[in-house]
Amino acid sequence: MVSLVKLSMEEGLRTNQFYVVYQPQFSLRSNRLIGFEALLRWSHPVLGQIPPSDFIPLAERNGFIDTLGYWVMDTAIREFMSLAQRGYKLSVNVSVLQFQREDFVDRVVYLLRERGFPLEFFVLELTESEPIQRGASFLAMMRSLKSHGITVYIDDFGMGYSSLDYLNFIPVSALKLDRSFVSRVLWDASSRYLLSDIVALARRHKLQVIAEGVETREQVDFLRTRDCDIIQGYILSKPIVIAEVPLFLRAFYSNYNKWF
Ligand code: C2E
Ligand code: CA
Ligand code: CA
Repeated sequence: MVSLVKLSMEEGLRTNQFYVVYQPQFSLRSNRLIGFEALLRWSHPVLGQIPPSDFIPLAERNGFIDTLGYWVMDTAIREFMSLAQRGYKLSVNVSVLQFQREDFVDRVVYLLRERGFPLEFFVLELTESEPIQRGASFLAMMRSLKSHGITVYIDDFGMGYSSLDYLNFIPVSALKLDRSFVSRVLWDASSRYLLSDIVALARRHKLQVIAEGVETREQVDFLRTRDCDIIQGYILSKPIVIAEVPLFLRAFYSNYNKWF
């Protein structure tokens, strides 16, 4: 079963069933769009659109995540180049399992340099879907990323296996709050307290807080009052293919006043 899925993923890569979409991230501090997150899509000829929440865990289990992860990075780096040259950051999701390959950082840096992509405009969003040994080599890789100017965000902070000791040991620059959490803050008091705690924690560690899955104006206003730094979600845009980004940017900036 596992190898069947792997086979169809290999076939999918060979026959262009995979593609990347991009979702904008907006700074509540500067009132500017600062970057885009790359999200993987699989359009299967028989099964239709398969959500990444279904196939990423399978790829993690069958070992295909390495190949898929590099493909996403390579594709996004290539597609996003002109946007990076205009000052937008590119975030790519990376499974913590990808760090189990010792040459992970070298390969990422090689990809970026080969394409001439500015390293300081490249971000890795790290999710920990499984607990891994965060030993000396993991730490060394995280530090090496930083020394190359590559930024790391902790994705879905506070969920899964992401743990607080990250903040003391690895150089990250932002915590991302999951959509399920953000959707609760307006009506659930305990989530609101937790949000204040997370923002305070982030400030102590000089980290930014990014709220994802922001869908309403009320959420934007609320997150502003709670000192959240960056938002992402359908209120700005659904994830779009790269060809749609220029149109989005034009529409966004012509409607700019709405964001103040
Ligand atoms: P994530 O990194 O937490 O990404 C955010 C998810 O929320 C995306 O789902 C996005 O489309 C969705 N979303 C964003 N704003 C809104 C909103 O306002 N409302 C609603 N309802 N949804 C919103 P998506 O694209 O289905 O991705 C799901 C997860 O799959 C991602 O969660 C990420 O963990 C994983 N993933 C996606 N692409 C990759 C990849 O290239 N590599 C790895 N390792 N994981 C990936
Ligand atoms: Ca993410
Ligand atoms: Ca999430």
